[in-house]
Amino acid sequence: MSATSTADPTRRTLPVATLASVRAQTRELLREHRRALLAVIGLHAVAAVAGLAAPFVVGRLVDEVTRGTAYATVDRLVLWLAGAILAQTVLVWAARRASFRLGERVFAQLREQFMTRVMALPLSTVERAGTGDLVSRTTNDVEALSHVVRFGIPSIFVAVVTLTITVAAVAATGWLVALPVVVGVPIMWASTRRYLRFAPDGYLRERATYAVMNGVVTETVDGARTVDALGLAARRRRRIDEALRASYDAEIYTLRLRLIWFPQVEFAYLLPVAVTLVWGGWLVSQGQTTAGVVTAVALYVHQLASPLDELLMWLDEIQVGATSLARVIGIADVPADRTATGQEPADAHLVVDDVSYAYRSGRDVLRGVSLDLAPGERLAIVGPSGAGKSTLGRLMAGVDGPRLGRIDVGGVRLVDLDLDRLRGEVALVTQEHHVFVGTLADNLLLARPEAPPADLLAALAAVDAREWAQALPEGLDTAVGSGGHVLTTAQSQQLALARLVLADPHTLVLDEATSLLDPRAARHLERSLAAVVTGRTVVAIAHRLHTAHDADRVCVVDAGRVSEIGSHDELIAANGAYAALWRSWRDE
Ligand code: ADP
Repeated sequence: MSATSTADPTRRTLPVATLASVRAQTRELLREHRRALLAVIGLHAVAAVAGLAAPFVVGRLVDEVTRGTAYATVDRLVLWLAGAILAQTVLVWAARRASFRLGERVFAQLREQFMTRVMALPLSTVERAGTGDLVSRTTNDVEALSHVVRFGIPSIFVAVVTLTITVAAVAATGWLVALPVVVGVPIMWASTRRYLRFAPDGYLRERATYAVMNGVVTETVDGARTVDALGLAARRRRRIDEALRASYDAEIYTLRLRLIWFPQVEFAYLLPVAVTLVWGGWLVSQGQTTAGVVTAVALYVHQLASPLDELLMWLDEIQVGATSLARVIGIADVPADRTATGQEPADAHLVVDDVSYAYRSGRDVLRGVSLDLAPGERLAIVGPSGAGKSTLGRLMAGVDGPRLGRIDVGGVRLVDLDLDRLRGEVALVTQEHHVFVGTLADNLLLARPEAPPADLLAALAAVDAREWAQALPEGLDTAVGSGGHVLTTAQSQQLALARLVLADPHTLVLDEATSLLDPRAARHLERSLAAVVTGRTVVAIAHRLHTAHDADRVCVVDAGRVSEIGSHDELIAANGAYAALWRSWRDE
């Protein structure tokens, strides 16, 4: 493994939003929830004021006792003290409740936005970046963000409000006594500034290494058989070790930053309390103030530590949260791979014109491919494995756009159609037969949301599935998918085919490697497919040659180029590559 392959852990990952756009997004959120936010701050302010009562009453108690007082006065003050503590408890509870509710609401909103963005991601981007980064963002980053939004933001508001009110109380009680508080400020300021200068980059790097690690582990687990079969275990282990090491280094870096910062901060707020007591003692001896005032101020200064601590601790977590937010909203920065221009295809004529395509720059897997499909024709694409057949199929179904050249339907580029429109023109048929959670009808309506029940039944009938569908406990309204009625594999595949009937594209691209055209599939499934295919233009990526024999034309793809095209008989007569393939296949 070369050094360069691990040098940059962010390589091939999805974009990360800029600091400016993270700030703008946060401001937008705060503005949107301004009223709830003001209510939360108001509640916390009242709670904080109640919290000020205790030191004040204790201070009074000290002075009263010093002066010599009646039991009744002491009793009264103690009652006040109990009342203040009780009021504070109730107020803090109410304030926390309000802020958690706000946090949950904001987080739910962020999660919805994230989902919308993920759904809008161009498929080509997801393939290129690998799913590791996306999985890392949907898990680690959303998790980190949830922690900060649910607990961090509320705690920060509490801390800021409490701090402000406590500082005001200190100043009002005896600003002269509180003067030593300032000795803590420069220490705290300098150490925090230093921390904040290095922390964001550190956390960003930490997160990026998680993405890489997720990717490597997921790949290894998904491809466990391949890893085993090819004896790649040692290499994979080395790759994981490298990813772990990068993660470890990144974490050590941020840990070191925290290890320097925390003790300095701790010192910065213990020092003022000590100095206040010494300084206050001297002032009392000079007759400048009373022991009660010094007691109250020292208690207030001591009370400052807790919200400050909270604030600083969250400052740290906010870094993590901001980094995660940048990664979560960064997904929106992926440029769209298609732009709907609103043009309408003139007819159902599909034309591939001089198309080149590369997964990685500089390595074209298709080169100058041209094809003209007559509406209603059946074209089989054959060729050796790795020739580019599946890639061509994906491009012809508009899943991705070509690097050079164009693929048009009725004179409009496939990538200029919006996705819903595209699906009404061309569909890629794969083995994907996921049954979504919902009713059977919901599963069908995905293809055409406005379809009336009669059309749903007709579509099911077309693929030979009406009988079993109507025999379900609640017919079309039966809950299916995870947790619902379990459909057999054949039934799920028929459901997928019925969706195609509803979407009604004029052209189908069938990729045999991954398609429903499995010879082992039940006979009635083949009938279902035949029903869907009738009357449509079909491009069949034939990994087995009997499909080619039945097609109107056969196109041979070799090393990314079309090497031969013609009917089965023409190509056999020409005695070229196809004829050789055919002979070797037939003799097998
Ligand atoms: P075929 O379907 O003829 O077997 P493919 O279209 O699957 O060929 O692959 C053509 C070439 O593109 C191969 O060299 C393959 O390794 C490469 N390729 C296919 N899919 C990807 C991908 N997602 N990323 C990078 N390279 C790919």
